[in-house]
Order: sequence, then structure tokens, then C-alpha cells
Amino acid sequence: MTSTSTLQFVRKAASDGNPAEVRWRVADVQALFDMPFMDLLFRAQQVHREHFTAGEVQRSTLLSIKTGGCSEDCGYCSQSARYDTGLERERLMPIDEVLEHARAAKAKGSSRFCMGAAWRGPKDKDLVPVLEMVREVKKLGLETCVTLGMLGEGQAAQLADAGLDYYNHNVDTAPEFYGEVITTHTLQDRLDTLDRVRGAGINVCSGGIVGLGETQLGRAGLIAQLANMNPPPESVPINNLVQIPGTPLADGGKLDPFEFVRTVAAARITMPTSFVRLSAGRQEMSDELQALCFMAGANSIFYGERLLTTDNPDAGHDEQLFVRLGLTAI
Ligand code: SF4
Repeated sequence: MTSTSTLQFVRKAASDGNPAEVRWRVADVQALFDMPFMDLLFRAQQVHREHFTAGEVQRSTLLSIKTGGCSEDCGYCSQSARYDTGLERERLMPIDEVLEHARAAKAKGSSRFCMGAAWRGPKDKDLVPVLEMVREVKKLGLETCVTLGMLGEGQAAQLADAGLDYYNHNVDTAPEFYGEVITTHTLQDRLDTLDRVRGAGINVCSGGIVGLGETQLGRAGLIAQLANMNPPPESVPINNLVQIPGTPLADGGKLDPFEFVRTVAAARITMPTSFVRLSAGRQEMSDELQALCFMAGANSIFYGERLLTTDNPDAGHDEQLFVRLGLTAI
């Protein structure tokens, strides 16, 4: 069933103010999910090879530059001040420390350095040191990405002036399910930030989380929403929920791993020129499952032992996996 409200949100996502062309109806994406698994993987790999060099995988490192104490209530997040997750709050990291992490990430083979701060959105005074971080990380020869929450008027332009390459802001889940996961801001708030990022000429990194308790139609709605953005995000992180004790989503059922692979494949087919990134949850995936994700068209990973606050496979293990699968880091 095609959801009217999904399409309305999609249309609002058009950055040029005109209604976006609905290239992928939710029903069309659902039809991809319904394909026999091997047929879906084969099609995704075909699309992948039309647009990318097979076996090349981009590596990003993610650093939490300000941890915990966030005012928002995202039901999956360890950093919300509303949940007792045992996470220690940390102030904004000094720039020297950030640069130390960035140099180490580059030495280990990352090409992009992403900095995340747990804010509803940055105050103008918060943004000043972050702009300096962006400028200095860029000087190291790394691509830069930040995720700071919702941006106010003019803030995206300041980030663009500092040389920011990517801004991450996920739509998280299907429009219909959004209110089940987050109540302190709306999906439209997030779409407004994405419009500001686009408008400032910064590349968009936006994806979602699966395993939140959404239905398969919900996963199809998430992918359709992203694919119908005009243009689609350059980078599409697909996260598998890490169930964090203390959060409202700590005790739900686990997603069938093949459903995760199907979601990656649907993202690849509907957004053929975007980098599809394996993000949170990789620590809990076997090497074999990750190989299926690469087959389904994932071509970017987070690299390094920590994501924002959760564990990630260690870099040595990833290095070995790349060798075993004949993958090339870019
Ligand atoms: S806005 Fe970001 S940091 Fe804050 S609770 Fe939501 S996901 Fe976590």
C-alpha cells in the first residue's frame, strides 16, 4: 500500500521549492523487498557495478566531540538526558584532542573524518569552535563531516564557508513511524535542516535506523523517502539498532539479518549513485553478513573502534576482512 503521508513528506523534501518527482513509490520499494533474496542481491550488485568500481569501499572515522546530555528523546539513543544509560556526559572536546584523533584516523586509512555532537542543535556560540575543527581537519587532507543536530538560519552557510564537505542528519525511519521513536522534534524539522544543508551547497549524509520495531513497509517507506529526495543524499547510512540498556528500545525483538541486507540492497537500487554506508550495528554482524551487505551494494563503512558511543569492529579486524574479501579502501 502506498502511503499518502509518505509522499507528502517526500514532496516537502524538495530543496528547490518545487514538488519532488516521486521516482519511487513505497509500493515499488516494497516490491524490491518482496523479491527472492538472491534475485534482489543480484540486481543490487548489477546496479552497483554500473555506477561504482566493484570492491571499492570508502572508510570514514566517527568521533564524538560532545557526548551525552542531549535534550531530545530519540528512543534508540544513549545520549539522551532522559534515559539512564550510564553514559558519562562530556563537554566539547578541545581542538587539539580532536586533531590528534583525526591524524590517527588518517594514518589508519580513513578518507573522511566525521565529528558528532549530542545537541538538539548548536547555539551560535557552540558553532564557533566546531568551525575551527572543520578548518583544521581539512588542512590534514581529510574530507570533513559533522552531525550537530538541527541547524538554524545561517548556520549551514557558516559550515560551508569553513569548508565542510558533508552534514549528517538522518531521517531515521518511515514518516508514519517517526512519532513512535521521537516526540521532541518532528520529521519536518529534520527535513528543514536538510534543506538548509543542501541550500548551502554541502553534501547531504542522511539515512536511517532499522530494527526499531518498524514493519517491512516501514523500511520501504524509509528508503522511498530518501530515494525521492531531490537529489538523493550523497551518503546514506543504514544503521542496525544497537539495543542500549536504559533506552525505550532496549528490549524489542532483533531484526532478521537478511532483512538488514534487503534494506541495503533496496537503498543501492533506488539510490544508484549514493554511497551506502554500513553504520551502527556492524560490531554485532558476522563477517559473512557484512560480505552479503557489500554484495548488496554497501560501499562505505565507519572505521575505528568506536562509533559515537557504541563499539565498532577494531581496525585490524576490518583490515583483515578487506584482505579476505579482496576489497580496496578508498
Ligand atoms: S538528537 Fe541526536 S544526540 Fe540527541 S537524543 Fe536524538 S539522536 Fe541522540
